Amino acid sequence: MWANKFPRRTFLKATAATAAAVGVGDVFSIGEWMKQANAAPVTKIPSLCETCSAACGMWVHVKNGRIWKVTGQKDHSQSKGRICARGHAGIAMAYHKDRITHPMKRIADNHFVPITWEQAYGEIAAKLKTVLKEHGPEKVFFSHNPRPTNKFYWPRLMAAVGSSTIQSHHSMCSTGRDVAYKWTTGGMATADIGKTKYIVFLGRNYVEGLSPSTAANMEAAHARGVTMIVVDPRHSNACLFASQWVPIRPGTDLALLLAIANVLLAENLYDKEFVDEWCVGFDEFRQGMKQYTPEWASTMTDIPAETIYAIARGLGNNRPASCIEQGYKAPNGCNYANGTQMFRMVACVNALLGNYGKDGGMKFSNPPKAGSLDAKKYPAPPKPKAARCDGAGIKGEFPLCQTSQGIVHLMPQRALEGKAKAGFLYRINVARNAPGPELLTKGYKALDLLVVCDVKWSETALCAHYILPECCPAEREDLPAVVSSTVTMRTAAIGLVHSECKPLSQIVTEFAGYIGAAKYFNFTQDDVANAIIKPLGVKLDELRVKGTIKVKAPAPKPLSFKTKSKKVELYCKAFADHGFAPVPQWEPPYSKAGKDTFVLIHGKQGFMSHTVTASDPYLLAIARRDGLERLWINADRAQKMGIKDGDLVEVASPQAKGRVRVKVTERVHPEAAYLPAGYGRLVPFLKTGVGFGISPNDFTPSRAEAISGHAMMMEVLVTVRKVGE
Ligand code: SF4
Repeated sequence: MWANKFPRRTFLKATAATAAAVGVGDVFSIGEWMKQANAAPVTKIPSLCETCSAACGMWVHVKNGRIWKVTGQKDHSQSKGRICARGHAGIAMAYHKDRITHPMKRIADNHFVPITWEQAYGEIAAKLKTVLKEHGPEKVFFSHNPRPTNKFYWPRLMAAVGSSTIQSHHSMCSTGRDVAYKWTTGGMATADIGKTKYIVFLGRNYVEGLSPSTAANMEAAHARGVTMIVVDPRHSNACLFASQWVPIRPGTDLALLLAIANVLLAENLYDKEFVDEWCVGFDEFRQGMKQYTPEWASTMTDIPAETIYAIARGLGNNRPASCIEQGYKAPNGCNYANGTQMFRMVACVNALLGNYGKDGGMKFSNPPKAGSLDAKKYPAPPKPKAARCDGAGIKGEFPLCQTSQGIVHLMPQRALEGKAKAGFLYRINVARNAPGPELLTKGYKALDLLVVCDVKWSETALCAHYILPECCPAEREDLPAVVSSTVTMRTAAIGLVHSECKPLSQIVTEFAGYIGAAKYFNFTQDDVANAIIKPLGVKLDELRVKGTIKVKAPAPKPLSFKTKSKKVELYCKAFADHGFAPVPQWEPPYSKAGKDTFVLIHGKQGFMSHTVTASDPYLLAIARRDGLERLWINADRAQKMGIKDGDLVEVASPQAKGRVRVKVTERVHPEAAYLPAGYGRLVPFLKTGVGFGISPNDFTPSRAEAISGHAMMMEVLVTVRKVGE
């Protein structure tokens, strides 16, 4: 491709000059070089995509030591032979211009200098020891996007430090859902799309968010004639396979679910046997639902009452092979003030349908059990006793929030309040992916010590005192993981592109030596990998060649619920004990659009997920070509406001103002304005992605929902005004 842009005359001159310089004269021939390059053998090396959380199994095709292309692993349950556009582009991260290539130290705002690993480890260890001495381990935290290797190494290091505050990205993602299921059904069951007859998706957009295999499942269900209802303020691409798109007022899915329960109970369409055997609090629940008629819900949701009746009856008449799909984030997981109770209702409606453990309903996973490191030979640090500094699981703060997830987006605020002093962040860009970037940046910078370990520059890395460069996925081997009935592992496809980058296991093990914790890391990564796969009957050498290996599925388990009562808690005592409604009841979202305002909603695009993809040159080229960063507004409202498709508008909330072009469409509810997620990078020296598009997080205040602490990422009203053609 580059030769096309290179004038032939210049090219010939350059070739002659090069030939002269190396003294090869007429021996060098570009044609011969191309021939040899094309003829070079291609090696296929197993890896896992890291561009989104689905971690699809892929083959990296390597030629002359460089990545040539990727293809999907057929045996991998997420990819099933396919890789999405993000995965194809994301593998090129190895050669990305915005990679962090050395350990870095911040010496002024946006000003970093490279330092040696020894200096980085030494200075970080000294500052950490000071924080521990002056404030104790309760003011130290760790935030990450949990993957097999970091899930093992970092928490062990934090335990050695004595810190209990380990957090995942979920409070910006699915914590509302996960807390609800923990207290209602004891954990999350997933929809059996392969056998269902009638399924309702609440905003879940499998076609554009996460995993080629689930999109394929929807496609197959569509081909089978399954009734699939997509309820969403936006006509997302999931509607390609839907029987019906039901536009809903943003943040009112809870009202729809309350009314569905009302109809199932009033018309005797629920599974009485299941409820008698497996539910607690049915009488209180039934009483609670009486007031929520479809007519009432229609005024809340803007969905016609007859549509609500039809959905409830469709679910009831097809039970138990019918379900409300479990959801993730959009539009509710961590987005609205009523998100946790909304997901309680998803679990409760599925219980009324008696669909748990049934074909076509909701099923709990039963994966093969992985092994762990021999604790006698490799003693782990004692379990930390320090209190958490994010409030998760703590009475008077967020007592019901899962400590396995914590509340990551709260930490900058905690730093400003003096409740957090030192943070370690691994591959998580909270400062851009959570609402309120100004506060987040200010808070992170208020810490005595912030260490970011990442592959590429990010808004969060800009706040760090030290940055530790990890090598990219194609350059490293990671620990194996059990996924469905397979064990799968990333292996290193290429050598290091930047010699100063290191794999995480090496970084953590080396740093442990600087804080006197080497004794807890007296093993190799291979020792850990072998321990994980031992009970599965898999050998590491074989896994390195095959990438994904099927293992024996455990015998099916009888139905059980891991709640306190061992049943589905339609009435949840723990909620009552902490002052929350024990039976879900209507709670409006904070944000209701008015005549001049919109609720700002957001969501992924098939080729663009987060900030990870928004600085990818190949994906950006698609977005730029097709204007895909645009704000969607409803055609009727646009006409009344004198806005035409493609106009430049100013979007404004009390937090921010920004300019973007609009897409005028029937595909969005009149009270919602939709912005695709990921755009609007703020790292001034990034070579790609800066200055293109705007981020919904700029407009949204940083807050935590009362029950689970999630980020309420769509609780904001914006105005939209035309500022140009
Ligand atoms: S869905 Fe796409 S981006 Fe996500 S892991 Fe799979 S291939 Fe990668």
